[in-house]
Amino acid sequence: VASVGYGAYTMYDQRHPPQEQGEIDPSKKTIVVLGSGWGSTSFLKAIDTEQYNVIVVSPRNYFLFTPLLPSCTVGTIDVRSLVEPIRFITRHKSRQVKVVEAECTDVDPERKVITITDNSDVKGQSSTSELAYDYLVVGVGAMNQTFGIKGVEQYGCFLKEVWDAQKIRTKLMDCIETAAFPGQSPEEIDRLLHMVVVGGGPTGIEYAAELHDFLVDDLTSWYPELAGKIKITLVEALPNVLPAFSKQLIDYTESTFKEQNISIHTKTMVKEVCEKEIVVQRPDGTSDKIPYGLLVWATGNTTRPLVRNLMARFPETQTIRRGLAVDDWLCMEGAKDIFALGDASATKYAPTAQVAAQQGKYLARIFGQLASQETLEAEVAAASTEEEKNKKFRKLQKAKDIKPFHYSHQGSLCYIGSDKAIADLPFGPGNLASGGVATYAFWRSAYISNLFSTRNRTLVITDWLKKTILGRDISR
Ligand code: FAD
Ligand code: MG
Ligand code: MG
Ligand code: MG
Ligand code: MG
Repeated sequence: VASVGYGAYTMYDQRHPPQEQGEIDPSKKTIVVLGSGWGSTSFLKAIDTEQYNVIVVSPRNYFLFTPLLPSCTVGTIDVRSLVEPIRFITRHKSRQVKVVEAECTDVDPERKVITITDNSDVKGQSSTSELAYDYLVVGVGAMNQTFGIKGVEQYGCFLKEVWDAQKIRTKLMDCIETAAFPGQSPEEIDRLLHMVVVGGGPTGIEYAAELHDFLVDDLTSWYPELAGKIKITLVEALPNVLPAFSKQLIDYTESTFKEQNISIHTKTMVKEVCEKEIVVQRPDGTSDKIPYGLLVWATGNTTRPLVRNLMARFPETQTIRRGLAVDDWLCMEGAKDIFALGDASATKYAPTAQVAAQQGKYLARIFGQLASQETLEAEVAAASTEEEKNKKFRKLQKAKDIKPFHYSHQGSLCYIGSDKAIADLPFGPGNLASGGVATYAFWRSAYISNLFSTRNRTLVITDWLKKTILGRDISR
């Protein structure tokens, strides 16, 4: 049923699940894939399940389209429009991928097994088990960097996962409604309406931009007495925001933020986060307390404990703190059966979805080549005539020539508010840098065409239309 005209079922159609449910074939090697983010999902889409048993282990059973997550914090887009179950993404495969919703808590490279833990809400307890692999693909991403600053985990909000966006949205509306509560002092109102963003990378910038749009498009009409008091401040330790972009685009972003009344404090370091204020060090060395209502912390990545523990098993070869050191073929230094990609790996590339997705696709191709090598080796050995042997041998040599990973940069985009975006595009003789409303139109279509499925595409376009016609929802 699933294969008959599946092209017609472009929408998420639960009535047509795949018939076969991911059986392990003992004659095939088993690839265990950790994570269901950009890297792993792109690998899973491209891997040939006729050649391998494929098991994916991830604490969340879905893929999340992170580039549009900042839009979910103010309700421009519904988070449900940005997620897609892994089982759905891999449904067309001739042999099914096996999905295990669990966290990998340990890797034993000697025994070639991983430990998995399922923190199930339903059972109210966690259970632990082991899984054996022939090859392990580590795509667990990274976690939020706090630099060990006190109070960040406790009082700040991150912006990485679905629940982060939901938490920010709830807190934001809570701040506004609490400020509207009768009898609040003017100082308390100012504090509650002060939205602070720490980190001037794309995530921090896009979040501040979305918040600004929400304020101008919706809050001003729904909370006319409060809207003028809402302040947005962005704090960045470096001398400027968006270090990955060109000088011209940084200036453009900073001046757009100025027009939008978003204050940027550069060369300012957060020293401590308290319940109602942050302690910062100003460029002149003095320290200052800034009261806030909502704090969003977006200062980049740090390595997950699982990855750190795995690195500790190879103290000689794993010496880069940023993540798993890999060779040009994404094979982990020190372990020939383990591969790493995306934010979990330490390469010369920035930790982006673009890099992770290309690495995933590349790695799937490598595994295809490895499988055909093995087939050809057997064929060479079994060849009856000299001529046939030579022919197969030449094919084998070709299959053995595995090209290293090559990243092709498609450009960087960042939404900066008021229907404007900036783009650094590696086209033409030099870099094409642009900013403005036309770039925003491009930004939208780029994201739309990059979305994984027709289903997501339809949902996001519908969300955008809904927002334009009806405005954003202000309920908590
Ligand atoms: P992730 O996508 O983070 O996936 C990690 C996966 O591993 C998740 O499924 C997680 O649940 C799972 N996992 C975690 N721990 C374990 C464990 N112990 N065992 C098993 N599984 C585990 N990049 C761009 O190129 N363009 C953008 O516009 C852009 N915008 C972004 C906006 C935001 C708000 C954020 C947060 C990131 C953005 N990025 C963007 C960066 C991009 O999302 C990351 O670089 C990308 O997700 C990295 O892919 P990954 O597969 O390495 O990790
Ligand atoms: Mg991944
Ligand atoms: Mg992801
Ligand atoms: Mg579970
Ligand atoms: Mg990386």
